[in-house]
Amino acid sequence: MESDLFHPETPTPAMTRFARVVVERGIDRAGDSADAGLTYGAPDDVHPGQRVVVPLGRGDKLAAGIVVAIGGAELLAGLSASRVKPIARVTPVTLTPLIVKLASWMSDYYVAPLGMVFGTMLPAAVKKQTGTKTRVYVDRAPVAIDTPLSKRLTSAWEQVQALPAEAFPTTPRALAMMLDGVTESAVKKLIENGHLLATSKQEVQESRDWLMDCANAQNASSTGSAQAAGPLALTEHQTAALDRVAGTLGTFAVHCLHGVTGSGKTEVYLRAIEAMLARDDPHNPAHTSTAIMLVPEIALTPQTASRFTARFGDRVAVLHSGLTASQRHGQWLACAQGSDSGGGRVRIVVGARSAIFAPLRNVGLIVVDEEHDSSYKQDQLPRYHGRDVAIKRAQLEGCPVILGSATPSLETWANTKQAPPSANAPAGTLPSASKYILSSLPARVGQARLPPVQIVDLADERRLRALVQPEGWRDRHLHLIGPTLEDAIGQTLTGQGQVLLLLNRRGYANYICCTDPKCGWVMQCEHCDVTTVYHIDRRLKAGGFVRCHHCLAELTLPASCPDCKKTINTFGLGTQRVEAELERKFGPSHALAMGTTLLRLDGDSMQTARDYFTALSRFASGQARVLLGTQMIAKGLDYPGVRLVGVISADTSLSFPDFRAAERTFQLVAQVAGRAGRGKDPGRVIVQTANPQEPAIVLAARHDFVRFADFELAQRTESGLPPIKRMARVVCRDVVLAKAQNAAAEIAGLLREFEADLGLRVVGPMPCAIARIGDHHRIEVQVTANSRTAIQRAFASLREQGLLVSDAHTAVDVDPIALL
Ligand SMILES: [Zn+2]
Ligand SMILES: [Zn+2]
Repeated sequence: MESDLFHPETPTPAMTRFARVVVERGIDRAGDSADAGLTYGAPDDVHPGQRVVVPLGRGDKLAAGIVVAIGGAELLAGLSASRVKPIARVTPVTLTPLIVKLASWMSDYYVAPLGMVFGTMLPAAVKKQTGTKTRVYVDRAPVAIDTPLSKRLTSAWEQVQALPAEAFPTTPRALAMMLDGVTESAVKKLIENGHLLATSKQEVQESRDWLMDCANAQNASSTGSAQAAGPLALTEHQTAALDRVAGTLGTFAVHCLHGVTGSGKTEVYLRAIEAMLARDDPHNPAHTSTAIMLVPEIALTPQTASRFTARFGDRVAVLHSGLTASQRHGQWLACAQGSDSGGGRVRIVVGARSAIFAPLRNVGLIVVDEEHDSSYKQDQLPRYHGRDVAIKRAQLEGCPVILGSATPSLETWANTKQAPPSANAPAGTLPSASKYILSSLPARVGQARLPPVQIVDLADERRLRALVQPEGWRDRHLHLIGPTLEDAIGQTLTGQGQVLLLLNRRGYANYICCTDPKCGWVMQCEHCDVTTVYHIDRRLKAGGFVRCHHCLAELTLPASCPDCKKTINTFGLGTQRVEAELERKFGPSHALAMGTTLLRLDGDSMQTARDYFTALSRFASGQARVLLGTQMIAKGLDYPGVRLVGVISADTSLSFPDFRAAERTFQLVAQVAGRAGRGKDPGRVIVQTANPQEPAIVLAARHDFVRFADFELAQRTESGLPPIKRMARVVCRDVVLAKAQNAAAEIAGLLREFEADLGLRVVGPMPCAIARIGDHHRIEVQVTANSRTAIQRAFASLREQGLLVSDAHTAVDVDPIALL
């Protein structure tokens, strides 16, 4: 289709207007060279930010790109105008100047080709214009037309003139139906002779969004409940937080809203948006302000959606992964039109990470809820962090941003503190003011209290189990649920309460090995340097399969040890193993059965957003009694029936070879504990661990974030790690080990040249924690510095010389959140 539209043979008049176009690139394509853009002849209707289609290279292959500049001969930069090709096609998609600026910042900051950033900002459905239909609308000509009309058309025209102004614009078909004895073809004749003006408009066929349907149903069914009934009186702390945010509307400011689980952070967000809308001048619709609210994808449940629609009605657009392509396109257009000249309806966008690129104008407030959540970081090019892009966008928009969490990231927390005087500052220098404005909500709203948390030592639990067993009796079962947690589950089920159980590891067993310790065989992935995970699948004849969680290769479980032919054992933790144990222990006594009263929520059982929602609504209705899952269940769920929360093992995230392991563990335990006691009953929480003295676990059990943050920040200061220092990481990948090593050694050498001048510290090259994934060897170089500018300057310098390129072999990760 597209190639028909472009005819390079057609002679074109001499071009005087030119455009610089940056071609969008997919995630996997390499090369940095076209970052500054290519020059094309531009028709008059092309403006900066516009998405256009241009011919590339000798074959004139068509590619889409964004116009970054418009100008005259100065854009030719020495090229002869006759050699410049014209833009092939102009699309209806336009990025605002502010979004273009944001893209260029992201490209510099995250060392990613600009064309790739543009490619990320636009949803695929928008690029493909999925679901678009062209519709023709007619209106009466504003001036009298004296073309003579036939008798039939005269009658039609008289009727048209008699219609009220509100009847227009309308479609030719609808107009014909409003008139007596007039056909659609007569209307078309009136268009042809100029009495009616026709305009065509691109529209997206909107279909219903199931999540919004559910949200609306939830609003309708719970009008009596506190949430849907609208604003309750704010607590003293909520009022103080709201006042601080409202006081900064109209200027750039970063707020950290630290509120314990259940303390009413969402109510503060809703009121802050109301305060922003209230500042708008109703007589000047061109300056209506808009808001963006980011939530982790998994928290985008009907619960969140319904709170926003209950308050703001159809002024809210919800962007979530369950949307169809045409719905996504429709929502994007609604945002773009909604904030345009006050004509549309959408003022507020609620969505996951990429909603930060929503095409709204005049953004007056941005909220990042659960700002500590790792799903805000994109793990492929461009490796941006949604929270940090949100802060940058707020700065460009000149508006406040709220970063909310019960467990703020240490990056955010450190910015709320006054910086201590630096070691080489003259004595008596005052500490500099903190960068972020901190508001705390230290208590839950209403009658709810934070639940008591009991830490259970797994070693004690094993001794306890041995004591209660008859002498000489050998238990063949592996118990992941100790006697304390087992008793509590039984009591809770008997008392008609619901149970939430967390184990942050999928599958059945993560360790497959030979039963003979002298043999020592362990099943590893052939393509990666990791052990593989056994998954049960009753539909398979073998009863299960082995999967590598890194390259997703699947294998069958060997019948015997390939080295010594002895039997094989499967060890370790996994949600499937807990599921089986729960059914074994509580199936007979409490009618607990997989898939009905017992639900498992993890990446294996939840394939789509709708699976996830269906499972949650079964739990909400009380039909399911026990919900077992990975970190998916730790986020944002609010079910008053939950009386018991159990953490099967708090140690899974502690053992990660990553300096953030303790922080992750604290967040996970504190967040999941916060799911208990949302009703009148305070509930209880039991945390099983082999490290009962670990500060991250002890302090999470006490709900003491502040003490944990102080403790952990002191550790990071001592070891020179983020957030005290800034970090970036370059990973070189290749199937040939020597190539990856050489590339990493070269980059390390180049970066070391900046060590003295910019105060960089370069570590490496060294093999990554997982030294091989999918047959690619991985060698890394880590860079730390006192400021982000130092790293940026070094990277920019290498990039300009073409010595550092983000591509399939080189992954540059600025502010990495995982170091595997
Ligand atoms: Zn693998
Ligand atoms: Zn063996």
